[in-house]
Amino acid sequence: MSIPIVEIVNVSKTYSTAAGDFPALKNINLTVNKGEFLGVVGKSGAGKSTLLNMINGVDELTSGEVLVHSDGRRVSVHHLNEDEKALWRGRTMGVVYQSFQLLPMLTLVENITLPMDLAGNFKPRESREKAMELLRLVEIEEHAEKLPALISGGQQQRVAIARALANDPDILVADEPTGSLDSVTADHIFDVFSRLVAERGKTIVMVTHDMGLKSRFTRCLTLVDGELQNEEKMETKTKGRRKS
Ligand code: ADP
Ligand code: MG
Repeated sequence: MSIPIVEIVNVSKTYSTAAGDFPALKNINLTVNKGEFLGVVGKSGAGKSTLLNMINGVDELTSGEVLVHSDGRRVSVHHLNEDEKALWRGRTMGVVYQSFQLLPMLTLVENITLPMDLAGNFKPRESREKAMELLRLVEIEEHAEKLPALISGGQQQRVAIARALANDPDILVADEPTGSLDSVTADHIFDVFSRLVAERGKTIVMVTHDMGLKSRFTRCLTLVDGELQNEEKMETKTKGRRKS
């Protein structure tokens, strides 16, 4: 049975620039169901990051509505005020930003305990243990006490993934989360994501420019110049592992 968890209804986003208005998303309609590992692929500039920022409410939409069903609540994301949105996002949605966005003055483990402490989910000792567990999951725990500037881009990306999982969110939205990883590490992250979906009922929306990843999602859509194109069901292929 399909249970909608994210509904994107007639969403458009136009950026106003000195050179004029630029329509980055054109009337997007998309329902993401609970337990999907949805991929959205598209070339650079297609509107992928913009789409994720509409789902997580990080940026304002121009028209339309985004509804998220979680914790028995139905939230119209863009009708929340900034404080409500930050609180809601912290509890509901893990976000992996394309540019990682780690806090430079905090160690890696502190970057993960911070959102836990803000959400008030754990006692300080517990949050540290949980954070170390997440760093282990992405295989970076030996660097836990370092500052982000002292590790590579690929390592920062793994920390950003661990941080997105900090509050055990129902939904994970990830912007090119394997873009800075070598193929072995990218494979490992894909396995982690697939297991979160298959074993823990999480829902993941991931965008990528890497068309080669298409077969690894449970469903994959293509974004072209701000419009969603064809729909491809991948159910029969989800167990296939990419060998590289
Ligand atoms: P993608 O993530 O697929 O590479 P983006 O969503 O980042 O694409 O951008 C889609 C389009 O919108 C691009 O043409 C980009 O230049 C433009 N764009 C993105 N952010 C802004 C902004 N803040 N102001 C103006 N134009 C933007
Ligand atoms: Mg992008």
